[in-house]
Amino acid sequence: MRSHYCGAINESHVDQEVTLYGWVHRRRDHGGVIFLDLRDREGIAQIVVDPDTEESFATAERIRNEFVVQVKGRIRRRPEGTTNKDMPTGAVEVLGKDVVILNVAATPPFPLDDYVDVGEDTRLKYRFMDLRRPDMLNKLRFRSKVTSYIRNFLDGQGFMDVETPILTRATPEGARDYLVPSRTHAGSFFALPQSPQLFKQMLMVSGVDRYYQIAKCFRDEDLRADRQPEFTQIDIECSFIDENTLMNIMEEMVREMFHDLLDVKFSPFLRIPYSEAMEKYGSDKPDLRIPLEFTDVADLVAPVDFKVFSGPANDEKGRVVALRVPNGASISRKQIDLYTKYVSIYGAKGLAWIKVNELEKGAEGLQSPIVKFLGEDVAMAIMTRLGAQNGDIVFFGADKAKIVNEAIGALRVKLGEDLALYTCKWAPCWVIDFPMFEETNDGGLTAIHHPFTSPACTPEELEAAPEKALSQAYDMVLNGTELGGGSIRIHDGAMQKTVFRILGIEDEEAQEKFGFLLDALRFGCPPHGGLAFGLDRLVMLMTESQSIREVIAFPKNQSASCMLTQAPGLVDNKQLKELSISVRKPVKEEK
Ligand code: ASP
Repeated sequence: MRSHYCGAINESHVDQEVTLYGWVHRRRDHGGVIFLDLRDREGIAQIVVDPDTEESFATAERIRNEFVVQVKGRIRRRPEGTTNKDMPTGAVEVLGKDVVILNVAATPPFPLDDYVDVGEDTRLKYRFMDLRRPDMLNKLRFRSKVTSYIRNFLDGQGFMDVETPILTRATPEGARDYLVPSRTHAGSFFALPQSPQLFKQMLMVSGVDRYYQIAKCFRDEDLRADRQPEFTQIDIECSFIDENTLMNIMEEMVREMFHDLLDVKFSPFLRIPYSEAMEKYGSDKPDLRIPLEFTDVADLVAPVDFKVFSGPANDEKGRVVALRVPNGASISRKQIDLYTKYVSIYGAKGLAWIKVNELEKGAEGLQSPIVKFLGEDVAMAIMTRLGAQNGDIVFFGADKAKIVNEAIGALRVKLGEDLALYTCKWAPCWVIDFPMFEETNDGGLTAIHHPFTSPACTPEELEAAPEKALSQAYDMVLNGTELGGGSIRIHDGAMQKTVFRILGIEDEEAQEKFGFLLDALRFGCPPHGGLAFGLDRLVMLMTESQSIREVIAFPKNQSASCMLTQAPGLVDNKQLKELSISVRKPVKEEK
């Protein structure tokens, strides 16, 4: 039996006999004495094997990196001058008397005892090795602390952990479904849940009152950066509660967790209406660490001849904004070209700018390709509105509002990063008062949150002007990342049918797809609401990781496949036949 974890030994154990197990992180041969750095999940212990213990010494000579060994020995202080202050176990070592190889290891596909930059696909293919790296193990350990913290908090608040099905029907959360063919119902498919949304609402109808689940969710989304087809949500729902109370409980949970796990103290979260977030930052997940804001200048440029600006300024769906970057005039032309390329990813056709060199000189003191098109009066009026100072640079976005918001919003974040503009390390907030719907490309409406979100108005008002209606939805945002979001739900059948109708889901289709929900709403559904946090994203931020893949034990790669198991894979014809499926792509050769 193990007596201690390698990483747990210290000076209080001096002279104790111990039994350690682990992997050999590194072996060093020091002229007659062999040092083994033995690693387990808690850390590394230094083992000394000297030639007096002949058998163990011979064993130690055969040991290579990543061999699995058992060491029995006595703990002693390291000799004067050889202690290692950077290592938690660095004051002691184990005089290894009995060293046994429990298993050998092939040469690792990448070294674990030294930091080397390994391609991600290789790391994912050998994830079992990658996870041996202390950094990676620590992230898994931290993730486990987060889930256990959340469970404790929610248990303490009377929330009940209830599991919901994985084989189910589609839940509309805006992505494509992963489908699972049914063998017993030929031609029919289950969908993997995009979220447990409707089940948690059913649980409220059942009287569970307060529910949570650490739930796997599946979304077959287009491959955008840092999404996983399967991810984990902390899913929460509560009856007889209003928006404010629910947000307060959730905020308390997050604040206390950051305090207890990271020693970070948050002030009460700002609550920013969606309209204000879009106006100032062009985003419904503003990164409030960055002290830059949009200023609308459409009214100033509407009369000019310069169509690039006056076009959008006179279009009701257009927007013209300026983004003033204090002391940004030193940004080089080359860098501006790179930013121009960057905003083009978001559909911007260019990036206009003005460097403020000497404001006192009027237009002459402004360096820019566009001042001559704007004219001195307009250019100076813009400067006045912005409160511009010598040494600033001003960037402009002029296009459809959606493009301006996305492009200049992304530029704001990029500038914050590149110029190290952050005013604090953590900036949490709530975004509230979302609209109910947004326009689709074909002119229809789609729910911004999901179709079960309660509007903040009556069914009649909703029906009269759906595009103006606000919802009772809220998002928690941290450093420009959405940590979670939810809403007060519709608990009234008539309102639910109205929303379906506005979304173009006629009664018959609603009955076919969501009959069970409409039924439940008829049988005494309590007012209720909830939200879900993205666990992966939360842990990524808390551990300051670069991607959610760093905090998931076995993630898919960026083309949504598992490098470790080579999933998805082809299947035998026999299996397809059983499932009544024929595919156009080649199936696995039958043996
Ligand atoms: N089901 C929602 C989502 O996955 C969260 C919620 O409304 O509770 O985004």
